[in-house]
Amino acid sequence: MEIFERMSRREHEQLVFWNEPRIGYKGIIAIHDTTLGPGLGGTRFWNYSTDAEAMEDALRLARGMTYKAALAGLNLGGGKSVIIGDPNTRNREMIFRAHGRAVESLAGRYITAEDVGTSPADMEFVRMETSHVVGLMGKSGDPSPVTAYGTYQGMKAAAFYKYGDDSLADKHVAVQGVGHVGYYLCQDLAEEGTRLTVTDLDQEKVDAVVNEFGATAVAPDEIYGVKADIFAPCALGSVINDDTLKVLNVDIIVGAANNQLAESRHAKELEAKGILYGPDYLVNAGGVINVNAEIEGWPPEKSLRKAGEIYNTFLKILELAEAEGISTAEASDKAAERRIEEVRFLHRTELGCLSYGM
Ligand code: NAD
Repeated sequence: MEIFERMSRREHEQLVFWNEPRIGYKGIIAIHDTTLGPGLGGTRFWNYSTDAEAMEDALRLARGMTYKAALAGLNLGGGKSVIIGDPNTRNREMIFRAHGRAVESLAGRYITAEDVGTSPADMEFVRMETSHVVGLMGKSGDPSPVTAYGTYQGMKAAAFYKYGDDSLADKHVAVQGVGHVGYYLCQDLAEEGTRLTVTDLDQEKVDAVVNEFGATAVAPDEIYGVKADIFAPCALGSVINDDTLKVLNVDIIVGAANNQLAESRHAKELEAKGILYGPDYLVNAGGVINVNAEIEGWPPEKSLRKAGEIYNTFLKILELAEAEGISTAEASDKAAERRIEEVRFLHRTELGCLSYGM
């Protein structure tokens, strides 16, 4: 498909290619939609097998950021960048400074942060060339506790809708992946008295939540069949697929992992099985809320409060899904698009003209 055709299909605004062969920098910045504010999204450093694959990833991820920020009620648009190369290279300064110059060339239309293959230390190099970067050392810090808290609030909203009571005290939650987010999610749930079954590929992480929060451990491939009230995917994408749908034995799925549905049709299939699904980009928005705090200068408690709003947003999504007979995933997309359209309409009013009676 031609590049402009590809951009038009999902209404991307801008695609930037930046090349510094002597430094070994090949970067792509995709901006999806800046109606709500500058496009925010991390920089992914990855050994893509083709330039087309890298471009496709940047476009797809940028669009995802538009929807995530819109639904989280932030004044941010969607953007993302990718650097093509070996993410383990030791020669990082010039690559990330070159990337910083590419970001700077957009004059604030795009704000970057860390992502897969990049670290806060890399962002310090980006910062040498541009101020349009967040997630710096000593600033907003690890987003995982805020992400976990938003996911926990999403879980409570789902429980309220499903059971008429948002208490998770007598509920059983199966958590897949107890890394950064999964650990803090277990902590939030344990404080409420929830029964936990967990798994992870890393035995040390499993031991920590077993010892600290009294969780029961199962093998990684057993987690899907655990009979529980709620399943919380906090590891990988595509875990809701044709195979796992056959064995999932829960009422609700709410977790932090990105892109949980292997295919969009799986949202409908969950519904047919009577499983309530919390769309991933709705419930895991705590991460973007946390970096937004760095832009806005919010104190940590304001980020937590904002992540707590995921509870009400999810209830509104559930009402919309019910009213229109659509899946929660479709309702989330619709609510995000509606907010962008409304702000676009709002911006038609030129306030300066009004004050002069024009
Ligand atoms: P992490 O790498 O710290 O934790 C992921 C854990 O999953 C690891 O401990 C890993 O061993 C485990 N894991 C991987 N494959 C597994 C498998 N097959 N079975 C069981 N465990 C497995 O990552 P994280 O920061 O906690 O993020 C978790 C998920 O949430 C990711 O999908 C991430 O994209 C998403 N997310 C994270 C944030 C954030 O603030 N960190 C924000 C939004 C979304």
